[in-house]
This record gives sequence, structure tokens and C-alpha cells, in this order.
Amino acid sequence: MPAPPARATESWLKEAERYSAHNYHPLPVVLERGEGVWVWDVEGRRYLDMLSSYSAVNQGHLHPAIVAAARTQLDRLTLTSRAFHNDQMGPFLRELCEAVGYDAALPMNTGAEAVETAIKMVRKWGYEVRGIPADQAEIIVCDDNFHGRTTTIVGFSSEDQYRDGFGPFTPGFPRIPFGDAEALRAAIGPNTAGFLVEPIQGEAGVIVPPEGYLRAAADICREAGVALVADEIQTGLGRTGRFLCSEWDEVRPDVLIVGKALGGGIYPVSAAIADREFMDLFRPGDHGSTFGGNPLGAAVGRASLRVILDEDLSRRSDELGSWFMEELRRIGSPHVEEVRGRGLMIGVVIRESSGPARPFCEALERRGILAKETHHQVVRFAPPLTVSRAVLQDALLEIAAVLSESCP
Ligand SMILES: *Cc1c(COP(=O)(O)O)cnc(C)c1O
Repeated sequence: MPAPPARATESWLKEAERYSAHNYHPLPVVLERGEGVWVWDVEGRRYLDMLSSYSAVNQGHLHPAIVAAARTQLDRLTLTSRAFHNDQMGPFLRELCEAVGYDAALPMNTGAEAVETAIKMVRKWGYEVRGIPADQAEIIVCDDNFHGRTTTIVGFSSEDQYRDGFGPFTPGFPRIPFGDAEALRAAIGPNTAGFLVEPIQGEAGVIVPPEGYLRAAADICREAGVALVADEIQTGLGRTGRFLCSEWDEVRPDVLIVGKALGGGIYPVSAAIADREFMDLFRPGDHGSTFGGNPLGAAVGRASLRVILDEDLSRRSDELGSWFMEELRRIGSPHVEEVRGRGLMIGVVIRESSGPARPFCEALERRGILAKETHHQVVRFAPPLTVSRAVLQDALLEIAAVLSESCP
């Protein structure tokens, strides 16, 4: 009997359409395998992954060291809950704290959970350390923020679509323009406990704030006794050319949130990180997670961190990112309004007159490059940090071809 014909992409799309919630609008490509910077679809076509799962795969797909750590741990122990200790969590948290220079870390799974953890930590600090009256603590956030999808977090989004139909929302999150330090100064009141900010806004379209913004914000927070909370879930772990994006401004946030690449694309691992002044406000029973700090996640987290440090991925990101951004600008496409970013977190802004970014992403897909539009006009380029200059050079030819078409 002849082998049945391979399922075509269309049948996978139909199946997903039929059985999934329609809360995403993915490109019509069905992936089945990945290795390093490459992914393959069900029809055997190879693509360069220039999204890296929103920077969760900074180390590349199936990094051998992270896969090996996961395999080893799979044969030992995977879950204990926090009712008991395990032999991976302590070493993981020590290595994480040593990498970023803080006293302690609270492990969670997804980014949104780590953001929620930071919110709880800062509110408690507001009450117990700052003496803010009960239930009055405020955490200032920025317009166009993205911190995740829980009801509390979307409640302080400025994006109507993230909120519409999901209220009522948690109060206590005044919003100010991003990149405007004076607006922060003006917004701080007696009940302000914290300021939650992304050093570069990723989902908003790779918005890089004015030079020195985070430094100024940190100074304002320190003078006012307000906790600075940096959401480095996307910008952290080498993505912007430093281990943390805050380093560009020589800022040490009071509370640091990491996730995404902390799990190396293999397992969800996140953490809220702070010194004892903040962390010790959590007492047994105050907060928790069944899976947070589990031995499999901790082993994966240790390996994921080690790869970023051992392979000096922050420096690669810095060097390749500056060069790649310059090359993108040199294409001189009439469709491009701006190329912006830091390290290998790059946004190419398509002019409104050239239509939305989506058709450009579809054209790139046909040429073997996977990138995703964000906020209609921006194509984001964020390949794994293990990418080589030669691979990026080849990608530039395809990108230039797409950006040179009159109508992609
Ligand atoms: C992705 C992201 C989150 C949410 O992480 P999840 O793992 O999807 O919950 C939060 N903040 C920023 C800046 C992000 O990029």
C-alpha cells in the first residue's frame, strides 16, 4: 500500500480553527520541528525564526545543554509542590540572584504570575514599610504597557481590546505617558507605593524611551520613596545587548521581573527578584504556586541562565543588533518610517501609507523568515541570540527584497 499523502498545511489550520479559541491570529504556518535559529513546517520547509517566541527562545530552539538538563531532571524528579523542599530550587535561585545581584527570588511559571507577585510584594511593602493606609496603595503604570493577561493586569492596560468585556477591574493603577519622567514626578502622591515599567516596551511596538529615562525615573522613585519595578520579562536575559536592559541606564530596580528566556523555550519559568526588605514581607501562606520552583523548571532555569552567561549572548546581541539595525536602515525602503530597538530587539515601523505590517510578515514567511507584526505598523525582528552574522546577512537579502516590493 502506498503511504498516505502527508497532511497539507491547510488541514492543520482547519483543525485548529475548529477546536481552538480564536484569541490569536497566527501566520498560516504549521511548525513541527526546531533546532537553533531554524524551525521546519509540516511540509518540510525551513524558516529562520525571527520572533523567538516573543524572546522566550533567546538560547535557540532545543539548545543541547538545556535539553540535556531537562532530560536528566525528567529521570530524577519533576514536581514536589512547595510543601516540601527539592534539591534544584535552592541552587537555581542562588544562581539567578548571583547573576543579577539581588538577595532573593520568588519562582513562578508564566510572566503574568511573576508580575502579579511583584504587585503583591510592592503593595504589601507600601502598607507595612511605607505606612500607606489600608487598601489605598497605588502602583503607577505606563500608557501602552504590556505586563500579561490576568484580569488585574489587563485592567491597567491602555489597550481597549485587552480590557473590553473583561471588567470590573482592580483599582489602584494610575497611568502616565511612557518615556516622560516629569509625568512620573507629577503623578506620585502620598499613596504611591510603586512604579511598574518596561525598560523598552516590546508589545507596544518596540518603543525605546528617550535617553536616560529609566535613570531619571529611578532617581525620582528613590527621592519619593517609591519602589521601582522593572518588567524585564522580554527585555531581560541578553535580549537588548545587556544581561538586563536596566543596565543601559545603570539602574538597579527595587523589584525585577524576569520570565520567558528563563525557561529556555522548554518550560515556563519566571521570577520576581528583590532584596530582603521586599521579599521578607511574604510570610508562609501569603502567596504561592503549585508549580513555581518545581525541580524540572528549576533545572531548566539553571541551564537556561548558564547558556546565556557561558555563550556571552548579551554581547552577541549588542554587537549583532547594532550592525543589523544599521543594515536595516541602509535598505532605505520607502515603506519604512523608522528602525528602532536595542540589541536584537528591533522594530521596523511601516508607514501608514504603505498599509499594515501584516502583509510584509506574510511576504517574509513566503521567503523563509518568520516575523510577527505588533500593533499594526511594526515588524519585530528578535531572532535567537545564538544567530550568526552570516545567517542574518542572508536574512537581510530577503528582508530587503520584501521591503523593496511596491506592494508585498
Ligand atoms: C510576555 C510578557 C509578559 C507576560 O508573560 P506571560 O508568560 O505571557 O504571562 C509580561 N510582561 C512583558 C514585558 C512581556 O513581554
